[in-house]
Amino acid sequence: MTGPVAGKRGPTGRARGATAVDLRERNISAILRVLRETGPVSRSGLASRLGLSRSGMTPIVAEMVDRGLVRESGGQAVTRGRPPIMLTLTADDLCIIGIELRRDRIGYIVEAIDGSYLDGSHDLRTSIPHDPDQAAELVASLVLEAQQRTGRTAVGVGVCLPGEKTAGRFVDSPVLGWHEVPIASLVAEALGKTDTEIVIVDIAAAATLGAPESMGAALPVRAHIQFGPGLGMGLTDLRLDGGLRPESKGIGHVGWPGATARCWCGRTGCLDTILGMHHVAQELCERTGIAPPGEAAQLVTLVAEALDEDAAAVDAWTETLAARVAWTVRLVAQLEHPDVITLGGYVCQLDDRFEAALRSHLTPDNGIPSSMSVLRSTNDDASMLGVAAIAGHSFLSSPLTVLDAVRGGTSGHDAHRRAGESREVVR
Ligand SMILES: [Zn+2]
Repeated sequence: MTGPVAGKRGPTGRARGATAVDLRERNISAILRVLRETGPVSRSGLASRLGLSRSGMTPIVAEMVDRGLVRESGGQAVTRGRPPIMLTLTADDLCIIGIELRRDRIGYIVEAIDGSYLDGSHDLRTSIPHDPDQAAELVASLVLEAQQRTGRTAVGVGVCLPGEKTAGRFVDSPVLGWHEVPIASLVAEALGKTDTEIVIVDIAAAATLGAPESMGAALPVRAHIQFGPGLGMGLTDLRLDGGLRPESKGIGHVGWPGATARCWCGRTGCLDTILGMHHVAQELCERTGIAPPGEAAQLVTLVAEALDEDAAAVDAWTETLAARVAWTVRLVAQLEHPDVITLGGYVCQLDDRFEAALRSHLTPDNGIPSSMSVLRSTNDDASMLGVAAIAGHSFLSSPLTVLDAVRGGTSGHDAHRRAGESREVVR
């Protein structure tokens, strides 16, 4: 995949042929981005940062206050001059929703437009429907649930799923049997809002943007390996397009030396048949003599059960799994030379024994340069966070167009004129 599949886009304010409305939107977009990155900023600080005159700022800020996007504070006279007027992002009636439709879980995360966490939920027992209309209905129901729970209106919806963008708005997902499915349009239709921007991104690609933003500057080229029912790999370079066009690179069907099992793709010996979640769980059960895993069995519960049965066999299984995961990490390291490789999916459920076994394989002797970081998260939310980040930036690039669509062109709602209390929860 070459980037997010965008739904309707507003004017991006390119200089060529830009109208006054475009320029206004571009300035508001720039101010919102600064506020999202740095938090409250003084008017004069913003003006110098954006190269605007202070008088040029006045009508722009007035419109942003009127639309409930920012709040001004400070500026009262004190004994030694006036403190600067500070602008703070508010928009406490708006949210960004990141949804994951995975084969091993369904979930969503809700963020305020400054990127702070508001709410989230995931369900390990459900998986993405193969029928595109049902998948779209599911997304619509999650959007409604998220809006209801937070009392906010979505101005950006991002969905990650095991699929890749083809031409235009279409998505291919061989594993779901999807060929050129216009999933973003189907979701918009299911929501009854054809002008809502729906961003669609592959799971592993989205997860490259799910790591803490603080990691970004030092480690700009990021790869992510998703260990799910199948394997996925995403790559992003934060120096290009602000890093918001992560690519999906399939690695699930790379051949594993000596493997002979038939893969769903029709070939034999694919990495998916060795490291796919079901295979890994089945191997654990065979080695330790516990009952074979059911469809929705979680590795964490199987490992706990297996440890009671035969701890030594669990250790041997852990060592084999760590060696295979390390082989995959080495493959990605050598193919892409990223600064950091993050690992997600079922490996997030494994304990310190796995971590130690994996670390012993990730050495320069094994082809992993010491300059390269390999990070395993203990939660498995990277793809939801990543797709929410992309949807958030998408809103910020055409905020007025989106606001006019969701609010029907009105401004100055009472709801966001309330003195700036907020329900944000620090993640
Ligand atoms: Zn295959």
